[in-house]
Amino acid sequence: MSAGEETNLARLTRREFAERMASGGLHACIVPVGATEQHHAHLAFGNDWRSVFYIAQRTAERLRPHVLVAPAVMAGVSEHHMKHPGTLTLRPATFLAVLDDVVHSMVRAGFANVLVLNGHGGNNAPVAGVWDQLLRLHQVNLQFLSYWDVLNAQDAAELLRGGSRMPEDLPGHAGEFETALASAAFPEDVRRDAATGTAALADADQGREFLRRIVERLTAYLREMMDGTRVAEVPPFYP
Ligand SMILES: [Zn+2]
Repeated sequence: MSAGEETNLARLTRREFAERMASGGLHACIVPVGATEQHHAHLAFGNDWRSVFYIAQRTAERLRPHVLVAPAVMAGVSEHHMKHPGTLTLRPATFLAVLDDVVHSMVRAGFANVLVLNGHGGNNAPVAGVWDQLLRLHQVNLQFLSYWDVLNAQDAAELLRGGSRMPEDLPGHAGEFETALASAAFPEDVRRDAATGTAALADADQGREFLRRIVERLTAYLREMMDGTRVAEVPPFYP
């Protein structure tokens, strides 16, 4: 992979980044945010941030060389999983401060289109509470999306084998959906014999089809951001 094609910001040098930005070829940045938390007996602590980073990378590769992925925020708001040692949790104010600063860094680097791609449900409510403020502060095309939000009830009905309750099963927690994705993206971290319930029905082929649909739709979403047909509405200031 040449530096001109690299999609992972962490693998570029400062000169390579500066040249890419100066050439006008970098149009958008993805900031993945996830979690490091218990995922039952069959999935690993890193499941959420690895999943969202994996999806961000596959999407950026489809849009090469116009999209860079910033390193994932690897911990999220996971207080509700702290009964299981090894889980990391950020207090909501900490998480939001880190997210805000990472977004700000990317805006200062020159990105006018920034997609915060979320991989952990516990991050949704804190972000929703401050999103208007972030839009006013940064004044760029800043979007927030959980990667499973590009799926719909029809996808669930077609692909989930253990029934398709929406929205509980997409993403669910360490259930059939997350187990399928992990089986396709990082099978070495799936303990198949420990999976119970509908998670035991998941396999890698199912995960690959979920990933195909997710990456295809996220690619379209980012294309719209870059061609100006999906623009974040910055809420007005008080007159
Ligand atoms: Zn998860």
